Amino acid sequence: MTLIAQPIQFDHSGNFNKLKNRLEHQVGKAIFDFNMIEEGDSVMVCLSGGKDSYTLLDILLTLRKRAPIDFRIVAMNLDQKQPGFPADILPGYLKALGVEYHIETQDTYSIVKEKIPEGKTTCSLCSRLRRGIIYKVAGELGANKIALGHHRDDMIETLFLNMFFAGKLKAMPPKLVTDKGDHIVIRPLAYCVEKDIARYARGMEFPIIPCNLCGSQENLQRQNIKEMLTNWERQYPGRSQTIFTAMQNVAPSHLLDGTLFDFKGMQMGQDVAEGDVVFD
Ligand code: SF4
Repeated sequence: MTLIAQPIQFDHSGNFNKLKNRLEHQVGKAIFDFNMIEEGDSVMVCLSGGKDSYTLLDILLTLRKRAPIDFRIVAMNLDQKQPGFPADILPGYLKALGVEYHIETQDTYSIVKEKIPEGKTTCSLCSRLRRGIIYKVAGELGANKIALGHHRDDMIETLFLNMFFAGKLKAMPPKLVTDKGDHIVIRPLAYCVEKDIARYARGMEFPIIPCNLCGSQENLQRQNIKEMLTNWERQYPGRSQTIFTAMQNVAPSHLLDGTLFDFKGMQMGQDVAEGDVVFD
């Protein structure tokens, strides 16, 4: 394991460089399409020690070097005091990388253990606490943007979770304003495929910290959805990308939400964008 990530070649055909270029292109495109980063921004990149956030930081640092705009990157890790969390790995990695960083230590693990009865799911309280701390730390560090490492497949999974369990046609936004309006959360990996990120993280030999230290079964429903999507992808290659394309191609006139489309006020002769064709 190396502390500083150096691009390595998987083979002599340059496959790894192709992968790297693809990820950089996709992150650059997401930043452009959603206007995620602007001149003078201060971006706090949340690092968990998992493959996604390492990849996010690494690619943002690369893109900053050739960006026509100037912006600050500060890496942040929240040490939640989970048993066995190797507290020296991230500081060692970040120091060697030479990036500005902050490690916030808050024992949310004990709070969660104390408040949630044994055997019940701890994730919702844990992530609520984590979110509050992340927003507070962003304020203290003077960051106006908070970058998270969610990728395309997280977004698709969230779409199905909301559909199946919350009765909502809603996924995970590439960009949002926090509840108090103080920060903007961005997801620059929005166009990146999880498999690519996993390959990239392996190739870069990021010092990955396991994500099951809390002992909780992370969101079983999400695991089920992931499995469903993996099976679909195996059976119908490309299906996940088609779903993701659909998420960027919404026709409110062909759904049933009266707040998005004025069905009541519909008049004859009115032009409806989608017309009456395509899988009616
Ligand atoms: S898996 Fe563990 S660390 Fe992650 S949200 Fe759930 S309780 Fe928190």
